[in-house]
Amino acid sequence: MKVLVAVKRVVDYNVKVRVKADGSDVDIANVKMSMNPFDEIAVEEAVRLKEAGKVSEIVVVSMGVKQCEETLRTALAMGADRAILVETDTELQPLAVAKLLKAVADKEQPQLVILGKQAIDDDANQTGQMTAALLGWSQGTFASKVDLAAETVDVIREIDGGLETVKLRLPAVVTADLRLNEPRFIKLPNIMAAKKKPLDKTSPTDLGVDAAPRLKTLKVAEPAKRSAGIKVANAAELVAKLKNEAKVL
Ligand code: AMP
Repeated sequence: MKVLVAVKRVVDYNVKVRVKADGSDVDIANVKMSMNPFDEIAVEEAVRLKEAGKVSEIVVVSMGVKQCEETLRTALAMGADRAILVETDTELQPLAVAKLLKAVADKEQPQLVILGKQAIDDDANQTGQMTAALLGWSQGTFASKVDLAAETVDVIREIDGGLETVKLRLPAVVTADLRLNEPRFIKLPNIMAAKKKPLDKTSPTDLGVDAAPRLKTLKVAEPAKRSAGIKVANAAELVAKLKNEAKVL
């Protein structure tokens, strides 16, 4: 069984992003970029499925600038077999990524597509759902457990107030949530071996996809500054403040 995993290059989660002076966007010049954390979980899950003998090939795909190659090499070092870069300098929004992913899936014919539940830069949480809709496949989003069989996949989903188990007929789209697994630490020999694994390049034009943005960002602003906390001497003072100042009692 072939699995396709989508990996996005995003600003590293440790970086404190700043808004550009003109408020047009966040400034990502010279900041550390990494694989989206939920995509690491998606790759890890695919690798575990391969190690369990349920999957025969893992293809990873990334859409974006040339440097996404580094993200793909990381996924190859984690255990993916082959990579595809859909190279473009155009700003890609979730619908465009979903269309590109559908085009790649049409070519590759995987039985399972795994994505992260959300990219930590745009926080859109849309691409997996849109991809499933465009492909006309079942979807299991926010997965915290995946049990793959020959023709179906059982997905335990993290939902408000608990867990929901769904059985999907393959082919299907699954999006990875935080508790699905803990991605492995990549060893140096695997990084070296990943350099020799195949990485093919294509483009939105080659795939026949119009990837132009449909939404326009009007303004980006810093969140409001939080005022400093205070210490109270005792419970009575706390209750008085909650009553008279915060007016929450
Ligand atoms: P989003 O809908 O933007 O929050 O992204 C959800 C998931 O879609 C991510 O975790 C990735 O798995 C995938 N994805 C989004 N953008 C890209 C991209 N440019 N290249 C590859 N995968 C992407």
